[in-house]
Amino acid sequence: MTRPPTEVTPPKATSFQLSIGWHLGIAFGVVAVLAIMANVIVEHGESIIKTITVSRPANVIDAQSLAVVADAEQLRAALNAITPAIRARIQLDKPETNLLVTQAQARLSQQLAAYVNPRSQDATVGKLKASITEFKNSGDDLITLTEKRKRISLEYSAHIEAMNERMKRSLDSAFKLFGRVMARQSLIRLSNQLDEIRRRFSELQTAPLDDRIAMDALIASEEAFNQSLQSNRKSLSHSEGAAWVNAMDSDFAQIVTLPAMLTDIRIQLRSAETRFNRLDLATHKLLAESQRQLLVPHNPHTSADETLSANPITTESTTEVPAIPPAEELKTQAQPSPELSGQTPTTTITTTERTHHQRTLIAWLSVMTVLLVLLLCIRTVRSVFIPVRGLLRGIEKVKAGETLPPLPRGTIKELNNLVNAFNSMSDELIAARKTMMDSQQQLELKVIERTRELQELAEHDPLTSLPNRRQLFSLLESSLADAERSKHLVGIFFLDIDNFKNINDSMDHTYGDRVLVEIAHRLRESIAAAGFAARLGGDEFIIILNNASNHHEIVAFGQRVLQSFSHAIKVDQRELMVSVSIGASIYPEHGSAPDTLLKAADAAAYHAKALGRSQLLMFTPDLLEVAANRFAIEQGLRRALHANEFELVFQPELNAETLEVDVVEALIRWRMPDGRIATPDEFLAIAEESGLIIDISDWVLHKVIETAAQWHHGPWPAARIAVNVSPRQLMDERFVGRVDVLLREFRLPPDCIEIELTENVLQTGPATLAALLRLRKLGIAIALDDFGSGYSSLASLEELPLTRIKLDRSLIASIDSNERSWAIARAIIGLCHGLGIQLTAEGIERTEQFAMLASCKAMHLQGYLFSKPLHHDEVLAALPTLSHAARQALQNIILTTTRSNVVEMTTESSRSSVKGYRT
Ligand code: C2E
Ligand code: CA
Ligand code: CA
Repeated sequence: MTRPPTEVTPPKATSFQLSIGWHLGIAFGVVAVLAIMANVIVEHGESIIKTITVSRPANVIDAQSLAVVADAEQLRAALNAITPAIRARIQLDKPETNLLVTQAQARLSQQLAAYVNPRSQDATVGKLKASITEFKNSGDDLITLTEKRKRISLEYSAHIEAMNERMKRSLDSAFKLFGRVMARQSLIRLSNQLDEIRRRFSELQTAPLDDRIAMDALIASEEAFNQSLQSNRKSLSHSEGAAWVNAMDSDFAQIVTLPAMLTDIRIQLRSAETRFNRLDLATHKLLAESQRQLLVPHNPHTSADETLSANPITTESTTEVPAIPPAEELKTQAQPSPELSGQTPTTTITTTERTHHQRTLIAWLSVMTVLLVLLLCIRTVRSVFIPVRGLLRGIEKVKAGETLPPLPRGTIKELNNLVNAFNSMSDELIAARKTMMDSQQQLELKVIERTRELQELAEHDPLTSLPNRRQLFSLLESSLADAERSKHLVGIFFLDIDNFKNINDSMDHTYGDRVLVEIAHRLRESIAAAGFAARLGGDEFIIILNNASNHHEIVAFGQRVLQSFSHAIKVDQRELMVSVSIGASIYPEHGSAPDTLLKAADAAAYHAKALGRSQLLMFTPDLLEVAANRFAIEQGLRRALHANEFELVFQPELNAETLEVDVVEALIRWRMPDGRIATPDEFLAIAEESGLIIDISDWVLHKVIETAAQWHHGPWPAARIAVNVSPRQLMDERFVGRVDVLLREFRLPPDCIEIELTENVLQTGPATLAALLRLRKLGIAIALDDFGSGYSSLASLEELPLTRIKLDRSLIASIDSNERSWAIARAIIGLCHGLGIQLTAEGIERTEQFAMLASCKAMHLQGYLFSKPLHHDEVLAALPTLSHAARQALQNIILTTTRSNVVEMTTESSRSSVKGYRT
């Protein structure tokens, strides 16, 4: 059953839905904006603060003071320009830097004049003038000393380079092999030592002034060099020339003096710097002092300390040459500050205050940024985490087979899509699960029903609904257990329907089935509550009588069951007489196990069947022996075919008129392994029951045709063999074909064969009749055996395509003693003559019988009187002898009887007696 797909509830319109991309984009955007803001604040914080700190109300200053302030400011600016100019000049000796110094000095002179001249009477101003002049001179000294230091360094380097160049030339001209210079050891050492000097000198230049180690190291390296030079002087003069060595000497003499000079200059330079810085500071102080003096008592002014450039010249750090400040910057630095220009108020917001404000602002902004980012993070994480967790829980629930309400939606588009998909999937899953559960329930019901049916089937016979063999055993077991407890007897009856096979064969199988159902019904009726019936299979039933008090009660019950079949049963409007053979066994007398008791009843039933119809037989232990024997025979028969233990004997049939042997009847014998010869009566019934009859009969047929052909094509062209055929064989549709094939194979005319069958073939149905007609069509004669025994009916004479009737031995046996028998025999003979059917009288043992039958002419005579069955190789020899003996016997009859009408014998009398022919 398919369910319509479940309606998926449309997602509730969420006010605001964004994709993950948007969420992340916004988050990163915000972070980026904040970062930019922070940067901007950091960069422009100062200007912002400045804007905040301007404008305090200015005091009114008079014009003179204003001029003082303006001049002082101009002078200060000129003063401030000196230091950077000097610094630039010290670092680099270039026209621009020289110009810068010149300009700064000129400007200072000019501003000094502007400041001093109008106020020359002031004592401080005079001091200021002197100090500024000194400051200017000390700047010049600084430049001069710096130049000197440079010169010494250059000179030192020049000598080193000269020596190096010389050394290099010598090494270049040295012998080279595989890229290696094979030079004098002394030269190489000198070269290395020169490198060492150069290195030490450069270290000395940057070393602190009081660093003796650098100086010592340089001196040591110089000495080492000189020592090498002097010790190898001779060899070097020889190899490099005296001039080379002298030049080296001269250069070396020059350099040894220079480091000391350099150190001297550096010391001077340091003191010059100190002086310059001191004068710079002093000058500014004096300027401030003078300004204060000139302005007193008008207003306080910015502390000169503060405005002083905290920028002392450090010529010693010039090795890492800092870039010269661009001219613009220098100019800016020379500009008067707005505070000192007098136009701005005396604002006292210090740098520290600014930094504090700035820091506070940045701190707040940072905190806000962090909070904002945190909020965004939490929001983003929640918007992802909550739906994902919901999904996971949902999946768990779906897995556990629980129903779950639709999952809530969040703000992320993709996740919402996922949630929607999940919701609809879970709906479908729930629907599918329900469908599955429904069908599973139905299936389970079916399984239960089917199991019950199967159990029923496993325990009951489907045809009769009686318990089957399996169920029988368990029911019987509980019956026996009950009986053991209650000390009662149990009767076990094995019931077999007489000739059921015939019913089954003659009617169709469904009819047979209905007969079985009817029989089961009758059994149920007759048993009622006394016990139960079960079907073993085929036509075998078991009846159990529970709680019997004695032996007699059990036998009486068996008799009642037997009696219940005394009236016909009605199946398909047809009345049918059915009889049963019953074997009985008793618990505990004949055993205590179901198996044993059933076997005992079976053995009794088998025996009852052998006794004839409608028999009840109680088990006795010797029956088991019979059953065992039967089993042994069956096993022996199976082996006999392969072991070639069967053989045929042939019993002649004489023509009553000619007394010649017309036909021999083939009869089977079983030569058993112990040498005993078994007759058909001992094993054919068992062969029939076990189905082995088919193979055995086929062997007989083959052997008969083979033998007949042998005789026919050889010593006895008129040979005819009668072969006994069982109804089962005739029912086998291959039988006629097989006969035909064998006849062709052995090139045997069909009239050399005669088929003998018994009357019960009539009960096997239309197929058999058809087979007989086909045999007749082939030209094969058909004899009805054992006619006049049992329940022979004249109908068979009419129904079957017969060519011969064989009068049964039981009828012939009494013709000479019983008038009635003779009358019946004569009537049958007359009837057959009338119908044109040939006749054979079998079982003639006495001359009296012969005498009476011989008068009947057209018939065959068979019996021990003429011959017992003969072995194959005895037959041919016996043929003339038998005829002769028969004639002799007949003659004797004629002589000894008074019946003149029988005496028409032409043969001579014989001396042989009837007794003599029997051997
Ligand atoms: P049947 O066809 O009536 O065969 C004649 C039986 O009577 C033979 O017994 C034979 O030996 C016996 N008999 C013949 N003359 C006399 C006599 O004067 N007095 C006495 N007392 N008996 C005589 P056998 O050979 O024991 O055969 C018994 C039955 O076995 C046969 O009865 C036949 O129905 C069956 N039979 C024998 N051979 C075969 C066979 O190859 N195939 C089949 N299907 N049945 C066979
Ligand atoms: Ca026969
Ligand atoms: Ca017979």
